[in-house]
Amino acid sequence: MMIVGPLLAVSLFTSASGATIHASEQVAGATLHIEIRQPVDERKAAEIVEWIRSTANNVNLTYGRFPNPAPRIIVVPTNSRPWSSDSPVIYGQVTRQGRETVELFVNAERPIEEFYKDWTATHEFSHLMLPLLNHRYRWISEGFATYYQNVLMSRAGHYTPEFAWQRLSEGFERGRESRPELSPNDAAASGTRHARMKVYWSGAAIALLADIELRRRSDGAESLDTVLGELQSCCLPSRRLWRGYRLFEKLDSFLDSPVFMPLYRQYADVEGFPDMAPVLADLGITVNADGSVVLRDDRSLVAIREAISTRR
Ligand SMILES: [Zn+2]
Repeated sequence: MMIVGPLLAVSLFTSASGATIHASEQVAGATLHIEIRQPVDERKAAEIVEWIRSTANNVNLTYGRFPNPAPRIIVVPTNSRPWSSDSPVIYGQVTRQGRETVELFVNAERPIEEFYKDWTATHEFSHLMLPLLNHRYRWISEGFATYYQNVLMSRAGHYTPEFAWQRLSEGFERGRESRPELSPNDAAASGTRHARMKVYWSGAAIALLADIELRRRSDGAESLDTVLGELQSCCLPSRRLWRGYRLFEKLDSFLDSPVFMPLYRQYADVEGFPDMAPVLADLGITVNADGSVVLRDDRSLVAIREAISTRR
């Protein structure tokens, strides 16, 4: 049966059993195969499809096309509240047995406007920009997704740049305080449950350091965006399980001189946390005593800050 969404130009197809609503949406580089489990009424289903398309377009603000040409996206309404989440998107995960699949567990009763302000789906979709990494290197997959969730929410206009940089600077501080005796590789190997902030934010810090170096030395011609675009062209979606340093070697192979392996050697097996204070200062990000962030325009890396986070 075909139902035309009552408010939005979205085509929905209900499965024979009635247990799932199906939809296909085109974005640059991909056809999104969306499944919405029941119960969700038609109007909310149409809104959710439109929100998924919009979220995929957040990721396309990286290199202009979606990293997987045919991802499966499953939306599951749930009443359970793990970690007493108050978010409309309660939990998300990427699975890669067969076709790459993003599962999003949502509170479908929340108004759709709240979904657009929630970072979870942007984070999960950002995972598709990297291949599956061995457990020990999970700081790279979680870190890059965490970096991009904030940057892309700002580029899409769902965050102000100030808010995105506040979230990043607060995250770096949480990462610095988390398990300082562990290196990123050892933190990831010990399991995110025991070193979650260390795993997520050390990787996000290294993503920012790579992005700044790429942009600085190329006058903006290169960036983390362009290098990940090269990775997508050559290697994604990948069916292999990658080691972190192999991924970084591959990213460096797109460059005249390496950026990623020098960062790997400097940080991956070294305890502690990258010193982000001077980097944030050069970007013109000032953290007040109350934790709020002010963006200054008189520092050396302001143009790079704006290139990373300005609305597009
Ligand atoms: Zn993640």
